[in-house]
Amino acid sequence: MLPIPVPPPSVLLCTLNARYIHAALGLRCLLANMGGLRAATALREFTVNRAPDLIVQDLLQLLGPQLAGRRQVLGFGVYIWNVTQTCAVLRLLCRQRPDIRVVLGGPEVSYEWEQQEIVALADHVITGWGDVSFPKLCQALLHGPQPLMKVISGEQPALDALVLPYREYSDTDLAHRVLYVEASRGCPFKCAFCLSSLDKTAWAFDLDRLLAELGILFARGARSFKFVDRTFNLKIDASVRILQFFLDHLAEAGPDGLFLHFEVIPDHLPERLQQLIAQFPPGVLQFEVGIQSFNPAVQLAISRRQDNARTEANLRWLLRHSHAHLHTDLIFGLPGEDLHSFARGFDRLHALGPHEIQLGLLKRLRGTPIARLTEAFGMVYDEAPPYAMRQSAVLAAEQVQAFVRMARYWDLVANSGRFRRSLVLLLGIRDEPLDTAGASGSDAGTAHQASPFAAFWRFSAWLWARDGQTAGITPETLVDRLFDYLHGHCGLDADVCRAALLADYRHSGARARPECLRLVWPQDMPAPTAAKRALAARQLMHRVPALDTGDA
Ligand code: SF4
Repeated sequence: MLPIPVPPPSVLLCTLNARYIHAALGLRCLLANMGGLRAATALREFTVNRAPDLIVQDLLQLLGPQLAGRRQVLGFGVYIWNVTQTCAVLRLLCRQRPDIRVVLGGPEVSYEWEQQEIVALADHVITGWGDVSFPKLCQALLHGPQPLMKVISGEQPALDALVLPYREYSDTDLAHRVLYVEASRGCPFKCAFCLSSLDKTAWAFDLDRLLAELGILFARGARSFKFVDRTFNLKIDASVRILQFFLDHLAEAGPDGLFLHFEVIPDHLPERLQQLIAQFPPGVLQFEVGIQSFNPAVQLAISRRQDNARTEANLRWLLRHSHAHLHTDLIFGLPGEDLHSFARGFDRLHALGPHEIQLGLLKRLRGTPIARLTEAFGMVYDEAPPYAMRQSAVLAAEQVQAFVRMARYWDLVANSGRFRRSLVLLLGIRDEPLDTAGASGSDAGTAHQASPFAAFWRFSAWLWARDGQTAGITPETLVDRLFDYLHGHCGLDADVCRAALLADYRHSGARARPECLRLVWPQDMPAPTAAKRALAARQLMHRVPALDTGDA
């Protein structure tokens, strides 16, 4: 029997994700709320790595040929990480099928849209929330009356009025991708660099409805949940209920276990929450903790309210009394923060011992209030996405470039978790002050107390001068470079360095024999077990992606 032909959709929802494992929550929210158009709506996701012409081929095939009298809508979710590629797709697609009505939504086109090429290519833009406005616009585009406005301000409905999107996750999504879920939207805080600061408040979904949907996902086999709430620990009653829900399901999770990711503010961890957090076994909880800066003057400038002493106490408690994996964030280049101030913040955070410190460079996201600080703090940003800061009144361009390289090396050496013993040696080298070459700030060139930051900064400068690359560095090359630096450049004992590097390398499960370890390579080196390989793959899958612009 011939397969029944599927009619092309009237509405096609599309986005380009940063990685395959990211299943777009926003598009699934739109899909779930299409009402009478749900059956005629399809969803197609790509990754930013796919060539634009191949994406266009796929989309045109899905949409079918142009037919007289047939109207179709193509909706794109546009974000900082995909705006360039989405624009390239639209340039091609609009030439081939000018009849298709293109609608854009997402944070990247919700603010400062007037000058954007991608907006010029589209028929309509919905700014802000799209859950209600997008289906209404599609209805009008398909069945009339035709909308008059190109840019439509998205209507914000009560969250209880929305259909929850979780049944739109397919079985393949459940099996292979991280499932994004949300218990609330918005944030009451006002950090100037963050888009959520425009929300002024947070809105919560009805927890009974949400937990019922999570129960269905769990019964279908979902085991990885990433909460996108800006501040998971804002309303403790809700946080407690969600954690209790997962504790109650822990025993059913099976051999693959459970993985939960939450963004939390660091200075709010009441005892009720602590008691629940302490009950989770290793490997389940991951907290993304935005610190951003420990400098009170910088915090004041960017309107970030943060109790530094309580932050430190809470991080210490989490590290001592829970098994949560702590992924902490610092932002380099905030208004008024120079290299020394950042170094002090890094050292303060590093002394607490979080599992990861993500070193991010400040970006001027469209619409964020940080634009108001540009002149006063001499901020210079890239014109193109992701709008990275390039220099400030207290940071020279060379220092920013050096930081970007250091952040990359820090990821490879420290955040990868592959060099725990060697990193102790590396960060223990404290015989030179921080190199401030290129600084234009008032304290440029002043002596600086030696620090782990300074130690890694120097290693980073040495590695860059030696190889001139930050990408394509194999673990084996990194082992050899670390040996050259620790022993050859810094004069540490060769046996001590080899012992640390060998232990790290064996522990990582790699077996390709770096040059510097040939002399000490054990003959009986066992192959990595399947369980170890699976654990490494799982850890890699859940690492917080660099392009994730969410910050708590
Ligand atoms: S950085 Fe975090 S706490 Fe600050 S406004 Fe954004 S989401 Fe809220």
